[in-house]
Amino acid sequence: MAELIQVGTDTPLFNYTCWTELLEIIVTPAGKVDYTLLMQHHNLLQRFITELGTVSPDTAPDRFPTPEHALAYWINAYNAFVLAAVSAEYPVRSVWKVRDGQFFTRVQHSAGGVTLSLNDIEHRVLRGRFHEPRIHFALNCASNGCPPMRPQAFEPTGLQQTLHTATQQFLASEWNCRIDHAQKKIFVSRLFRMYAEDFAGTADSTLEYRHGVLRFVAEHTGEPFETLADYAIVYNIYDWGLNDAHRDPQLRPITFHESVETFHAKDGVLRELYLYDGNFCNRACSWCTVFGSPQGWYQAHTTRVLDSALATVAQDGNIKFYGGEPTLHSESLLAAMRYLRARGFSGLFTIYSNGVKARTLIDLLDSDLQSEAVLNYSIYLGRDAEPLPTSAKALLEAWGREHPMRLFTGYKVLYHVGAGVDMVFDRDREPDYHALAGCVLCFPVLKSTGEFHACPLAIENPAPHFQLGDVHTPAATLFNNYQAFRTWAVTVLDPAARERQITSCAMCQKRLAELPDYRSLLPEAPLPANSPNASRRPGTH
Ligand code: SF4
Ligand code: SF4
Repeated sequence: MAELIQVGTDTPLFNYTCWTELLEIIVTPAGKVDYTLLMQHHNLLQRFITELGTVSPDTAPDRFPTPEHALAYWINAYNAFVLAAVSAEYPVRSVWKVRDGQFFTRVQHSAGGVTLSLNDIEHRVLRGRFHEPRIHFALNCASNGCPPMRPQAFEPTGLQQTLHTATQQFLASEWNCRIDHAQKKIFVSRLFRMYAEDFAGTADSTLEYRHGVLRFVAEHTGEPFETLADYAIVYNIYDWGLNDAHRDPQLRPITFHESVETFHAKDGVLRELYLYDGNFCNRACSWCTVFGSPQGWYQAHTTRVLDSALATVAQDGNIKFYGGEPTLHSESLLAAMRYLRARGFSGLFTIYSNGVKARTLIDLLDSDLQSEAVLNYSIYLGRDAEPLPTSAKALLEAWGREHPMRLFTGYKVLYHVGAGVDMVFDRDREPDYHALAGCVLCFPVLKSTGEFHACPLAIENPAPHFQLGDVHTPAATLFNNYQAFRTWAVTVLDPAARERQITSCAMCQKRLAELPDYRSLLPEAPLPANSPNASRRPGTH
């Protein structure tokens, strides 16, 4: 039975007595969770979970008379369901390492008799109904990057003030918000990127989002917005390690890479662009998306190509070099970076590398302070690929330790495209395990041969579906084509792949000829008549 408080004559309100009792026992002063104590007092958690399953604001609205009552219920419910899910698999080390990988999507939590997933509660209920950005400083998904767990329930009475205080406390931590006035940079939690629209409203340009986030930070830190308005925002790494009081947070010297830029239609200019110079590589990974090998091709980026990149990507955006293995042509890469800098590119350079030539990679990074590198996950960890030589790994890790947020690994997913199209991977490396079976909508690529291609993973696929233009195509046309490609990927490609029960990447490689291309979504959409690839069937390599 739900614990109910009688207020007035016959209005029983939901109450959080046993939840607070539990939190006071298990939450440490630093806002971590003592999971050993949680196990010892699991009956309290179980009791609260049962109460949540009995009523909710949806099924018994008279017991939640104000929006604050409803909001408090859903925040507390989310946090309690998280603890229940973690305790079922403790000592798990991260919510991303649970057995089925579906921590946030499992539909298993009963709220008022309705079974929901954590994502349902966060996105559909909390974000969808309440439009209250400060929930992100109240929700705790059992990770070190989350706001500290509150040692009491969120009560409806005084909830606005509680959320305000929680926000200020979160931003008071250096790890969540650090303003460097000398460098004109503000380092904030990645929560601000994950939920940018919650902080910035329905803006659809990078600048509007940036200002929305900065306005929010200014409001809650007391810094004048005018001071911060032209500061660069750096999003800190999100630590997904379990918020376990018995384990110190341990970020590895080389952590997962997360891209900085997001596509916004109103930008009118690409925020990110890949530069690809061929699939020549000193490795030949069996699943390589670009068929990389020592037999691969290579062509250096010409000044014509680099000028085209400058015209297409935002000056303060992100240019990503990949191949093949870029360090095999380090002089040419260095020259390209210098060329772009000399012509005003002030954004971030990202270099995708297997790290085998560790010293060369470090020299490249040392040559430009606004650069980072992303190592191949499989090679770095020696999983499904020949591992990195020990000396190279040690060198890179030492450099990574001394240069936080400059050296990363890619994500563990292996995509069914390129050489790996028909391979079966370990369960936790399969795209669908990570809800990535659809198109991942990467930013486009400019090849060193001068063509713009819509997908860095499928870069060796010459299908017309991917052709966005070439170095002669006006930047605005390229942007429009790319935008149409994204729409096509979501409205045509993904549904077609689902229908055929394959991943969208496999669809791209094997069955693209069955689909119209993105030009069908443009007002006037001729195929480039003089394109050498226009008549070739896709996926024939
Ligand atoms: S995955 Fe990277 S390291 Fe492996 S063959 Fe392809 S390009 Fe080379
Ligand atoms: S679905 Fe196609 S376009 Fe999307 S990431 Fe995969 S290969 Fe690229």
